[in-house]
Amino acid sequence: MRDINAFHIASADDVLTGKTTDIYFERTLRILKKRGIDSRVVAEVRAKELPLNHPWAVFAGLEYVLSMFDRLRLNITLDALDEGTIFGAGDVVLSIAGRYADFCVYETPLLGFLCQASGIATAAARCRKAAGNRELLSFGARRMHPCLAPMIDRNACIGGADGISVVASAEMLGLGPSGTMPHALILLLGDTVTATRAFREVIGKKVKCVSLIDTLGDEKFEALRVARALGKELYGVRVDTPKSRRGDLRAILSEMRWELDLNGFKHVRIYVSGGLDEGQITSLNPWADGYGVGTRISNAPVVDFSLDIVEIEGSQIAKRGKEAGAKKLVRCPQCFSRRNAPLHVTLSRCACGGVMKNIHKRFISQGRAGVKIPSVTQIRAHTLRELRRVEL
Ligand SMILES: [Zn+2]
Repeated sequence: MRDINAFHIASADDVLTGKTTDIYFERTLRILKKRGIDSRVVAEVRAKELPLNHPWAVFAGLEYVLSMFDRLRLNITLDALDEGTIFGAGDVVLSIAGRYADFCVYETPLLGFLCQASGIATAAARCRKAAGNRELLSFGARRMHPCLAPMIDRNACIGGADGISVVASAEMLGLGPSGTMPHALILLLGDTVTATRAFREVIGKKVKCVSLIDTLGDEKFEALRVARALGKELYGVRVDTPKSRRGDLRAILSEMRWELDLNGFKHVRIYVSGGLDEGQITSLNPWADGYGVGTRISNAPVVDFSLDIVEIEGSQIAKRGKEAGAKKLVRCPQCFSRRNAPLHVTLSRCACGGVMKNIHKRFISQGRAGVKIPSVTQIRAHTLRELRRVEL
């Protein structure tokens, strides 16, 4: 077996021993020690802007940060939003109080965990919002380093994906993997109907039979041919038509739906995949019953969080461009508006008359575990509730 380092991945131990830090933190730590500086600080995480200037994003990746700090047994206090909570540009999503020297080298992995997970959850949530109640599957593992697949799939689920395709991810998350069939199966069996029958016979009735109908012929005629051959056994058809052959995908789907209905195949669902984003999902909604989304979710732009000191030994101080002092994020349960508020100021009224509520929770209290992270399914349910309060 070749050396695993050929994959160029750092191990969990590398993260915990601080090896995945930026060198300037290691050098800072050396200088602080040499000068005998061991100050207690409050540092907070927020993003000045959101990816693609979207109005909201979904907070994710906290479980990774807590797992890291749990194992390190650092004497810190950590407040944060629940994973799956909607936030905006400038909102404080997490704050840490403790000795700077204890956690400074972990800034790099902490931000990396949050930035990428939140980017993926946000992209998935936007697709979820666009798709409404239609099925949304995350198919983008193949666009990313395979060692990241379970992380990508977890955060796609948190954002609202109904299913994930990678076997290892499904095992880790305790979910059943979802998928249809690749073009290779139809090419190797030589015909769409033959391949779909083989799928039904070999894979069995527990797995929904969704036939890929764009490999060798016209989408409409292949869909009808498979529907006639399989009848009620056919759950759906998937269209993954290459761009060079697409023409007007909306018109193709509309025609397919018409012909399937006309021929008594109203039960056959139409799935679409292939380079989809939330805009295309919205435009295909009149005909599609489900979507397989790849790159848009797995290669989502990250949320550019930064970590900044806002207090040193109780004195409120921050760099240029940031507000000093420990903060909480308050939100109005009635109109959903949010704002950062000084930590010790008592709760205030919203312009709409509602009482603003602190939505930070204490996940670590002086080194001891506080609120526990819920399961992926519970976090996903929280995200879906949050999404009802925002527009795409
Ligand atoms: Zn309000």
